Amino acid sequence: METIHKIIEFSNEISILEISYIVASVLFILGLKKLSHPLTARSGNLWAAAGMAAAILFTILFHKTTITHADGTTVVKGISNIPWILAALAIGSFIGWYASVKVKMTAMPQMVSIFNGMGGACAALISMMEFPGLQNELAAAGDTHMLTGESIAILLGLMIGSVSFAGSMVAFLKLDGRIGDFKHPVLRIVNLTFLILLLVALVVIMVMQPVAGNNWPIYLFAAAALIYGVTFVMPIGGADMPVVISLLNSFTGVAAAMGGFLYGNTAMLTGGILVGSSGTILTILMCNAMNRSLLNVIIGAFGGTATGLEDSGDKTVKEISLSDAAVLLSYSQKVYIVPGYGLAVAQAQHLCHELDNLLTSKGVEVKYAIHPVAGRMPGHMNVLLAEADVPYEKLVEMEDANNEMGNTDVVIVIGANDVVNPAAEDDPSSPIYGMPIIKALDARNIIVMKRSMAAGYAAIPNNLFYHQKNRMLFGDAKATLQKLVAEIKSL
Ligand code: NDP
Repeated sequence: METIHKIIEFSNEISILEISYIVASVLFILGLKKLSHPLTARSGNLWAAAGMAAAILFTILFHKTTITHADGTTVVKGISNIPWILAALAIGSFIGWYASVKVKMTAMPQMVSIFNGMGGACAALISMMEFPGLQNELAAAGDTHMLTGESIAILLGLMIGSVSFAGSMVAFLKLDGRIGDFKHPVLRIVNLTFLILLLVALVVIMVMQPVAGNNWPIYLFAAAALIYGVTFVMPIGGADMPVVISLLNSFTGVAAAMGGFLYGNTAMLTGGILVGSSGTILTILMCNAMNRSLLNVIIGAFGGTATGLEDSGDKTVKEISLSDAAVLLSYSQKVYIVPGYGLAVAQAQHLCHELDNLLTSKGVEVKYAIHPVAGRMPGHMNVLLAEADVPYEKLVEMEDANNEMGNTDVVIVIGANDVVNPAAEDDPSSPIYGMPIIKALDARNIIVMKRSMAAGYAAIPNNLFYHQKNRMLFGDAKATLQKLVAEIKSL
């Protein structure tokens, strides 16, 4: 009898929905696994997207709600407003597709920020929608407090989602250069106060007696969380931005997981947990890479200022001619390329690979030193070089590359600046002091390719450019590499 009952239960629509959520979760996990290597990353994205599509489709088809009327009768209802849902899906999918096709590689972090913010907003809106219902339900039941699992999920989802939304919007505006940093020591206190206030408010709302129709606490709570999101990201600048973006990403994941708890939806829960945990791991790795503590990030108390060593004016910059650079590189045994944001701007990755092939064919050992925060998003250089089919084995992580710098003949820094700035090691007043760098100075010769003496993202001068070992090869990275490749070919 029990077996028959189980078979019936298994074959009903709720079970199909649950199975679809498990399949979706498995697809998320496999997709994430595939994202860890450039060769499989594209298909990993598609797998995770297929999981999400399946979860949405099966929810629309099979989700049922049981409504109990006052007279005790129950009605089982499927999803309503399907045309609206489909219209929203179509609009959202079109915007997502259009943005991914149109956005430039260098503007990817801005897009990630916006998309992340949207996730946070969704989680917060879900909480806003669900709170009044729960409040009325508890008030009708005569409860004296709101201390339930559902309220915790709602309030945490609202708080974390709102912080993530507001913070991501500020991060987008900053990365896009539309607003600058707003730094003031008092912000550290403001941020901590807001964080404590939010946590206190969360507890107060939960122990309050529920009053039907009384929604102001939740609106105030949302407003405070939005303000905290803004003040949290506002002071963070320059070199510390990547940590914040990945932290906000993990916030959105946690907020979405709260929605999963609320609805008992396994796909939402797994998706949220995966984003939350992978975002947290990335945040920790980035913190280590930039030598920042996580607490420092959370209270928003860090951020580069455009100070650091001032140019003394008596320093001289040496230049190298194309022909000298060609000879130096061709007769080297070991060359390290240090790619940076400028390589992405110039879209010179294919030429960079051509230079690598050319030198390799001459018996030179060529490798790429990859700094974890080079470019404008985590993994930016890996993606860029993978696009140009540079073999993954040639990309060497910063620490390993640094160990090899001592026996490197030439380091060519292409459009990188902050990630090779020695101020991180020898100037305690510099905003990037403590950040690990690629130790270009350990190599025998350095060639820096960039257009001018302008600073990088952290807006601080770089003494590497004035070092006696270094010679500048000025110009746009693409044009310069083109000429350099031609010069080497003509040798
Ligand atoms: P930087 O921003 O420090 O420097 C890039 C350099 O590229 C500039 O100094 C610029 O000099 C040069 N450049 C720009 N366009 C061209 C071009 N067409 N041809 C040649 N050179 C060009 O880049 P890094 O990669 O060294 O460092 C990344 C910075 O960004 C770090 O401070 C990091 O913290 C921050 N960041 C990183 C994120 C990440 O996740 N990776 C996210 C957000 C910020 P010039 O104008 O003279 O040509």
